[in-house]
Amino acid sequence: MSAPLPRVFFLDQSGDLGGAELSLLDIVGQYRGEKRVCLLSDGPFAAKLRAAGHDVQMLPLTSGVRRGSGVAEMLRSLPHLARVIAGIGRSARAFDVVYANTMKALVLAALSRPLHRRPVIWHIRDILSADHFSPLALKVARSAANLGTDRQIANSEATAAAFRAAGGHQEAVVIHNAIPTGAFHPQNRASLRTVLVQETGLDPANPIIGVFGRLAEWKGQHIVIEAISKICGCQLAIVGGALFGENAAEARLRQKVADLGLSERVRFLGFRDDVPALMGGVDIVVHSSIQPEPFGRVIVEAMLAGTPVIATRAGGAIEIVTDDATGLLVAPGDVDALAQAIARLIADPNLQQQFSEAALIDAKARFSPEICFPRIDSVICSVAGQQPPPSSAGR
Ligand code: UDP
Repeated sequence: MSAPLPRVFFLDQSGDLGGAELSLLDIVGQYRGEKRVCLLSDGPFAAKLRAAGHDVQMLPLTSGVRRGSGVAEMLRSLPHLARVIAGIGRSARAFDVVYANTMKALVLAALSRPLHRRPVIWHIRDILSADHFSPLALKVARSAANLGTDRQIANSEATAAAFRAAGGHQEAVVIHNAIPTGAFHPQNRASLRTVLVQETGLDPANPIIGVFGRLAEWKGQHIVIEAISKICGCQLAIVGGALFGENAAEARLRQKVADLGLSERVRFLGFRDDVPALMGGVDIVVHSSIQPEPFGRVIVEAMLAGTPVIATRAGGAIEIVTDDATGLLVAPGDVDALAQAIARLIADPNLQQQFSEAALIDAKARFSPEICFPRIDSVICSVAGQQPPPSSAGR
């Protein structure tokens, strides 16, 4: 009989459901060893983990560093931080491996290492660049990664390259997100469209574009709004809520819709748990990030939904979409290029079908749980000094 899998202490800072958390939910769900998820704030992510029957520990981090924080803010939060670090150190000692899923989780896992003395994996899910982080945050992340972790998993080549460029010492293992296919029904797109039209009151005779993801400036929903304003009758469903305190983004987008006189053609559907069905119901999914996307789960999801996709040519998106073969790539922030790409697809149903069929095959082949999860299990086993389970062998 093979040895039991290492016991893993997963650590994530967020209570919200971003892509990093949804990916971790899948990783934890499939991991067959003993495990616990420790979170630094409560919220929908904790609720989903508990609903799935996972062991969830809450160590609330009520103050602390944010993107763009200065030294003074960091110093003020030290006593509270010290208590959280001590809590992580104590709890993680009962496990074999600490798996940090986010940037704050990395820093805390590294700082608590003298207490837990366990190998630390950092799953890098951010592009470590000045576009996304302050110089201080980059420095802290680099030091924590170089001094306080044993292995890094990057969610794309783009993320790994940014880690290297930011001064990361080790070579991160690139493992793309796995997207389970069960909730996607590409063969039902017509009926999913009917349901979407009924719910939204959009005009079934005109094209419906979908944009999915949290509402934030860098996600570029405003670019899609401007692009559809240039295409007669073109409609837009915006799916996603403001996460991580970025609450002003939604108001700005609604204002833009009003300013462009698009209220009849644009719907805000908020954060949804039925993304696969909604993706199947729209005619085209647009991924519109104006900064490099670390991975871009929504792109793979659109491919699995059987819906043609247009994405921005940067970051992880380039590793997912092959331009003019499994979708279209356009320059980030280029309204005219996006409008042209949308118009081209709308005008050519054969091209839509060609892209969606190729994309579905490609997504199933490259982003399947059967391929990606055993590779994660392998990394966990290797830092714990164990042989990977037989199902991971040779992957
Ligand atoms: N998502 C969701 N409900 C929404 C909008 C988005 O569940 O209303 C999910 C989406 O399906 C995807 C994830 O949020 O799995 C976003 O991941 P992505 O990698 O695209 O972006 P991130 O949040 O990591 O920046």
